[in-house]
Amino acid sequence: MTDTTTAPQTTDLDAARLAFRDELVDAGLLVPAGEPGLFGRNGTFDDVVDAVDRYITLGFAALAPERIRFAPVIARSAFERTDYVASFPQLTGAIHTFTGSDRDHAALLAARAAGEDWDRFLHPGETMLVSAVCHPLYDHLAGQQVDGRVFDVVGYTFRHEPSDDPMRLQSFRMHEFVHVGGEDDARTFRNTWSERQAAMLAALGLDVTRVPANDPFFGRAGKFLAANQLTDELKIEVTVPIYPGLSDGTAIASANSAGDHFGAPFGITTADGTVAHTSCIAFGMERITLALFRTFGTSLADWPVSTLDQLSLR
Ligand code: 5GP
Ligand code: ZN
Repeated sequence: MTDTTTAPQTTDLDAARLAFRDELVDAGLLVPAGEPGLFGRNGTFDDVVDAVDRYITLGFAALAPERIRFAPVIARSAFERTDYVASFPQLTGAIHTFTGSDRDHAALLAARAAGEDWDRFLHPGETMLVSAVCHPLYDHLAGQQVDGRVFDVVGYTFRHEPSDDPMRLQSFRMHEFVHVGGEDDARTFRNTWSERQAAMLAALGLDVTRVPANDPFFGRAGKFLAANQLTDELKIEVTVPIYPGLSDGTAIASANSAGDHFGAPFGITTADGTVAHTSCIAFGMERITLALFRTFGTSLADWPVSTLDQLSLR
């Protein structure tokens, strides 16, 4: 009789991911923070993030984007309108807090003292963690006429995807350029600036590839959404080989055509009253930084002069 209970196999890819994570932690660049995909960073890591951010800002300066910043927390009513929970319930993060009485608090403390879970005493607040940094922007523009404006948005996002791969964080920064306006303009913006996005990342010496991609839409219905996204090339990713021979490249940036997906629920229209279309050019700040450390080594002293010069890090 064969034993049908098999221990999970550690693949070469798992091992490579753990080795990369350990290398980053040993170098002090990442600081473990108690959960998979949750890290602090040291000053060198954030110096590179800041340098990449300046580089991106300069590269997109010709658009004269309107800079706007939001908290990493979004009103539940706005989150609801993004429809994110329909497509990615597995990635969401809701904020819960304590709203009970003294008695409820005593029960919470008793559970805690007994070593039991105490978060069952918390209740959903009015807010969610931000899943994409452009989401609060649509709420800000709700009900307005917006015809061909470009916004520069930076912030933290949360996605519940615990993983041992240091490229997959639960909370990470995105820098997005968001075009809001007519359908044709939104598509032209996406295509033009997606090429520029890839060219800029290539100019850092990264081995980039531009590929049509799809999002991890949830469930059976999600398979159709993902297939449509691929066929219609609604999403283009810039990938870099991180574990060559073991997995496809990892997306360090992406360019999305959202069509009227946000314009319609948020009531954003163009000058002639039609629903506004939106496009996003998104840079994953930690992933770009990690791709640089993966490609050139964990010590900046080993990086090519041309890369350091591009980033004004010399
Ligand atoms: P998207 O909205 O395309 O899913 O995400 C935008 C960008 O954020 C991606 O191109 C990628 O660079 C970055 N990103 C997405 N998921 C993760 C993740 O799990 N961890 C990290 N560090 N970055 C991510
Ligand atoms: Zn976006």
